[in-house]
Amino acid sequence: MYTAPRGTQDILPEEQPYWRYVEQKAARICQLYGYERIDPPMFEDTRLFIKGTGETTDIVQKEMYTFDDRSGNSLTLKPEGTPSVCRAYLEHGFNNLPQPVKLFYFSPIFRYERPQAGRYRQHYQFGAEALGEADASLDAEVIDMAWRFLVSLGLEKLLLFINSIGCPQCRPAYLELLRKYFSARIDESCADCKARLERNVLRLLDCKQPACQSIAAKAPRSIDNLCPECAEHFQKLQEYLGLLNIPFEVNHNLVRGLDYYTRTVFEIQPQDHEAQSTICGGGRYDGLIETLGGKPTPGTGYAIGIERIIINLKKEGVTVPPLPSPQAFIAYIGETARTEAIILAGQLRRGDIPVLMATSAKSLKAQLRQANNLKIPKTVIIGDDEVRTGTAILRDMASSKQITVGLKELAALLR
Ligand code: ATP
Ligand code: MG
Repeated sequence: MYTAPRGTQDILPEEQPYWRYVEQKAARICQLYGYERIDPPMFEDTRLFIKGTGETTDIVQKEMYTFDDRSGNSLTLKPEGTPSVCRAYLEHGFNNLPQPVKLFYFSPIFRYERPQAGRYRQHYQFGAEALGEADASLDAEVIDMAWRFLVSLGLEKLLLFINSIGCPQCRPAYLELLRKYFSARIDESCADCKARLERNVLRLLDCKQPACQSIAAKAPRSIDNLCPECAEHFQKLQEYLGLLNIPFEVNHNLVRGLDYYTRTVFEIQPQDHEAQSTICGGGRYDGLIETLGGKPTPGTGYAIGIERIIINLKKEGVTVPPLPSPQAFIAYIGETARTEAIILAGQLRRGDIPVLMATSAKSLKAQLRQANNLKIPKTVIIGDDEVRTGTAILRDMASSKQITVGLKELAALLR
């Protein structure tokens, strides 16, 4: 037998109310903040991610689904959304629109990871990007937006962490400081950290190994090494978050996994944090569009994992509204009544009333049982008498009360 590929899952009908709920809340929050939807393709030129996401990142080094198509072009299933949105911004000349351009996406994301709870090889992200504006008020806006979105879903036990990792002016000197600090302690560090020391020293700050964490805790802090412009930007961000009443904590070990971040980085986590539980990650990426061949264009945004939201909705006991289901079940007795039932079902559906119909010659009792199992509130019953008189029996499944109604009134009654 075939099974879904490792690390992927079927989102079954019973799970769909959660997904629709999250999607609708996301669309609403985007409306409130003025973000428009964009749907880039599911795969892109591999070079977009090597350049954009960054050659030294875990994503590019070991997580991408890359393949050659039949013309020999190297393509990659989207391992994150931001490079695609920036590519689209450039390709469609969005730099000529009033800035910032605010876009959101809702998309499957593919990463070759070790599957575990909350970590899949295909997952979904809701992301928002604001392009073309460097002001810290926009960083505050996207953080506020992500926070309000999660709160609007009913999630309450959340923590927001922020940090600033500087810019191309001040970061090189800071990285040098870090390299010196970690080099002196590299014997006590894990293999990953040893490998990253030269390649991506920032990542040593957020290693999850306990021994590495205690080294990282005493490392030089980026916010003590910012240039005056970056320091002011970070100061303003904190001021604005205060104005918006968003509770946050500065986390000096927060760096995020992607190469393109500048200045602001942030994450939102559940309070009972486990390793796999970051719900939202984001930050500013002022160099990315230039890296992709555009004019220098600032940007800021975030991405949120939908599966992790749903895990937390369940953990916090949030109930979500059910999806609309059929109002009526059409049962019939005998061949003539069946003809009548088929016509009636067609008419009701064309009248915008969702109905289900019994489809095999079961006994009336069995048909009523079926309606009950499907939790359909009303059953319409047609037998020979009803066919003759142009009527139907309308049965309320909860009370078992039945009334005879003319076929013409039926639609109005069900509506
Ligand atoms: P992690 O540290 O957990 O690997 P990340 O930093 O790689 O996360 P991002 O690239 O920031 O994650 O992606 C944004 C969000 O997408 C994450 O905060 C998380 O909610 C979700 N996410 C990331 N990778 C996965 C995955 N493999 N399965 C499910 N959700 C994921
Ligand atoms: Mg990851």
